[in-house]
This record gives sequence, structure tokens and C-alpha cells, in this order.
Amino acid sequence: MNESGHEQLAEALKRGDRRALGQAITLIESAHPDDRAAGNRLLELVGSRAEHSIRIGLSGVPGVGKSTFIESLGNYAIDQGHRVAVLAIDPTSKRSGGSILGDKTRMDALSRRPEAFIRPSPAGRSLGGVSRQTQAAIVVLEAAGYDVVIVETVGVGQSETAVADMTDMLILLLMPGGGDELQGIKRGIIERADLVVVNKADGDLAAAAGRIAGEYRSALKLLRRRSIAWDVPVQTCSALENRGIAEVWGLIERFRAAMQASGEFAANRAEQARRWLWNETVESLLELLKADPDVRQRIGALEAQVIEGAKSPRVAADELVQNFWKRSQ
Ligand code: GDP
Repeated sequence: MNESGHEQLAEALKRGDRRALGQAITLIESAHPDDRAAGNRLLELVGSRAEHSIRIGLSGVPGVGKSTFIESLGNYAIDQGHRVAVLAIDPTSKRSGGSILGDKTRMDALSRRPEAFIRPSPAGRSLGGVSRQTQAAIVVLEAAGYDVVIVETVGVGQSETAVADMTDMLILLLMPGGGDELQGIKRGIIERADLVVVNKADGDLAAAAGRIAGEYRSALKLLRRRSIAWDVPVQTCSALENRGIAEVWGLIERFRAAMQASGEFAANRAEQARRWLWNETVESLLELLKADPDVRQRIGALEAQVIEGAKSPRVAADELVQNFWKRSQ
């Protein structure tokens, strides 16, 4: 793509053209060097200032109701005048994660609204729905006018940390009857959550949902406060029956207002940008190293020596890096 092509794409994107947005995210997600360069140009053209957006990470095990919840919350936010983008987990990667999904299209009703944009993350290349490209995709979505960006992740430990590192607010979605272990809840994840939501608070499950919410409220009191401006609330809801959703949205708005007033919102984004710089730098260096013909030639033998115990991994790593570095100078 030439420069005028880049400019046209950036302009169409800023107008909110959905096809342009799809094309832009495909560029951003591509591993091809030409696409990466085009993606970089696009990021330069659209800029990265979006103070009015809110980036929400949503985490929960398969079956907890994430897609039902995103659908309800997304529809509610749109009714309040927002535009909602979702970086969703690809159903194929989800199915292989042990959940039965059938052929149901996820977030069907939301995806039909013109104010919503749903993008499944590429299967296989992501960590529980979060990948190296997610941050750039968020920037592109915001440039296209989406002021609410939801990044969905399936509860697999590392992915929550990754998603918390690139969003303003982490929502942890739970359900009654799961039990902590079944839900894969680890203390570290609860410590990162800004809002805990107990879903399925309806019918036979309503009482249990209330009980679990109470337990989490007590547990959260024992944790060290992460923010000077925010105590992590626990809210029950029924995504299926659309109850408690307005309350969840109200909490999201209160969170944003509190964090903006305390300065933590901007400080958090600045720190995320700094960390993103370093993550990209490390990844790019690693790619250069792995693509280097000399490294490729040596790596098999070095790995074998390390596996046999003939060479210390530390010594081997230094050899690899130093050889690569000397030759690139
Ligand atoms: P995900 O795997 O986390 O995306 O979960 P889904 O949104 O696909 O929901 C899993 C199952 O839970 C589906 O059968 C939903 O209909 C059901 N479900 C989702 N939300 C609720 C809720 O609020 N109440 C009840 N009773 N069931 C729900």
C-alpha cells in the first residue's frame, strides 16, 4: 500500500467506515513485515489520544456468561449514547478450550447494531484472547470512534494480567455454584480486579449469587487497596434477564470519574504506553534474532548441548546474543 492508500484508509477509519476498520485491524494483526510497516504508518496517521474512551477488560471462565454479559452491557451503553467495540474470543479457540458452544454466533444481537463492532481475536495466536496486537487494535478502534472498548479474556491466569496491563478497568465475572477452584480464581486475579460481578443472579441461582457476592465483599476488604480513589465493589446481575446491568454501567462510570479525578487514569495509561514500548522492543529484537541466518544455523546444536547438560543455558544465551550483536554492528 502506498502513502495515499494509507491516508485514505486512515480517513475512512476516522469517519467510522466499518470496512476500513476491518481492513485496519487485519493489517495490525498481520505478521507480514509489509503489513507491519503499513500498520505502523496507520497508527501514526490516526494518533493515539483518546482520553474520552474507556477500555474494559472482562475476564471469566467459559460458561460464566461473558458473551451474554457483553451483549447486555453493550446494548445498555449504546442506549446511553456510546459506541461499543469488542475484541472477543474466537469461538473456535474457545471450543478447543473445553467449552461447548455449538454453532451459536456469539453476541448476535449486539453485532447487528450499527453502533457496535465485534472482532474475534485470531485463534491460536492469542493468550486467552489477548495477543501482542491487542493494544494497537484498541487504538484503531478508538480512532474509528468507539469510546467503549471491551477486551474479553478467558480465565487462564496470565491473560488477566496481560489484559489488565492494557485496559483502564478489569471486570471479573463470576457465577454462583462454581466454587473458587472450579472458576480458576486465583488470588492474583482478584487483586487486579476493579469490579467483581456475580452473574446469573436469577431464578434458583439468585440466593447463591447474593451469598457469593457477600463472600467476595468480605474477602476484598482483606486485600490491600490498589487505588487511593476506589474501593472494589461487588455487584450481582443477570445478563440473561438484563437485571443489574444499569448498576454495572453506573459503577463503570463512577470508576472512571474517580480515577480521572485522582490522576490515576492518566498515570495508568502513561505507564501502559511505556510498558508497551518495551514489550514491542523485546518482541521485535527477538524476531530479528530468530530470523538471523547464523542464529538459525547454530540454534539446533546449542539447544542440544543445553538439553544434554553439556552447556549452561546462561552461557549459551550469551553466546547467541553476543554473536548476533557483533555481526549486526
Ligand atoms: P461465556 O462462555 O462466558 O461467553 O458464557 P455465555 O455467555 O456463552 O453463557 C454460558 C451459558 O450461561 C449460556 O447457556 C447462557 O445462556 C447462560 N447465561 C449467561 N448469562 C446468564 C444469566 O445471567 N443467568 C442465567 N441463568 N444463565 C446465563
